[in-house]
Amino acid sequence: MNDAPFLPYSRQCIEADDVEAVTRVLTSERLTTGPAVDAFEAALAASVGATTAVAVSNGTAALHAACAALGLGPGDEVIVPAISFVATANCARYLGAEPVFADVDARTGIMRPEEVARLRGPRTKAVIVVHLGGACADLARIRDAAGANCAIIEDACHALGARYQGRPVGACAPYSSFATFSFHPVKHIATGEGGAITVADASLRDRLAPFRDGGIVRDPARLTEPAPGPWYYEQQSLGHNFRMTDIQAALGVSQLGKLGRFLERRRALARRYDALWADVPGVTPCVPEALREGCAYHLYGVQIEFDRFGTSRAQVMDALRARGVGSQVHYIPIPMQPYYRARGADVSAFPGAQRYYAGELSLPLFPAMADADVERVVHQVREVLAEGRSP
Ligand SMILES: *Cc1c(COP(=O)(O)O)cnc(C)c1O
Repeated sequence: MNDAPFLPYSRQCIEADDVEAVTRVLTSERLTTGPAVDAFEAALAASVGATTAVAVSNGTAALHAACAALGLGPGDEVIVPAISFVATANCARYLGAEPVFADVDARTGIMRPEEVARLRGPRTKAVIVVHLGGACADLARIRDAAGANCAIIEDACHALGARYQGRPVGACAPYSSFATFSFHPVKHIATGEGGAITVADASLRDRLAPFRDGGIVRDPARLTEPAPGPWYYEQQSLGHNFRMTDIQAALGVSQLGKLGRFLERRRALARRYDALWADVPGVTPCVPEALREGCAYHLYGVQIEFDRFGTSRAQVMDALRARGVGSQVHYIPIPMQPYYRARGADVSAFPGAQRYYAGELSLPLFPAMADADVERVVHQVREVLAEGRSP
């Protein structure tokens, strides 16, 4: 059993044709802002049923761009879940706005609509919804709770290929204005680093695209003055260099073609895990039955009652690692981070997030895993937990 290769909690799946796609673009005319970026944006928009997609350098930049397109600034508040990757909150701070943390469900880690209703106030300009692990938040109720003057951004970095009410996440309409994605190697498809924003309202592209390109506009129809010549461009706002390269985009197009197969595999592996945990008291999949349909399974998280087994999460992770099984925790509550503590955040105000965090463990899940790998992981977890009980 120890001869089996180490199973990380996640990893990319790069195949020969992905390598060829990257190699082709390397010897082409354009390494950046070229046709591969256009092709990736078109393919992504089609894949998620959005009107248009804007590719950027990573998922953090995608969130930053969406917040900038809303015109967020000092004095504005953005409601974000207490459980997510830090970028979900940081994007408000980049613009001087303040994230307001919302508590989450103790089992799923997903933002509770009641919290949005409780926290919203006159300064609330946006709510960022995270589909944690690929399981959809209750967007319809969050949309209602947020009120008419508040925009919804879906941080869909875990949810490429997820479906909510039968529609793909990323289509945005009717509940959100923006969906943001990451193509970091642990996500559904890999571009090395990479990200994108998708929208239903095509006019938002005019705000998103200059933001990734120094605030520069070249489209003659959008210049403030007639162009004196073909060299002319205008910087109309303050943007960044958040461009995606054609090297990344070519990999993205190739990977996107495999998304259906990757998702099917993730879902099949998750079903297998779910079935195997059914007779293990003290271990509960984070994604409940009601959220499994349409879940994109970026992660396979379980809630473990470590006390009941007389062990700790640190011991279990170490023991699993020694047995060739990687695991991770998604996530440390953002209000616990020193940066946000220094800004006045207090994790004791988030009992749901604390309970979720105390029990969560993400187990290996990636498309190249075999069915037997799931059995191996469950077997090892059961053994490690049983050892905790009999010291
Ligand atoms: C990965 C991730 C991000 C940020 O993406 P990067 O590409 O790493 O910048 C943001 N939010 C969530 C929920 C993520 O998982």
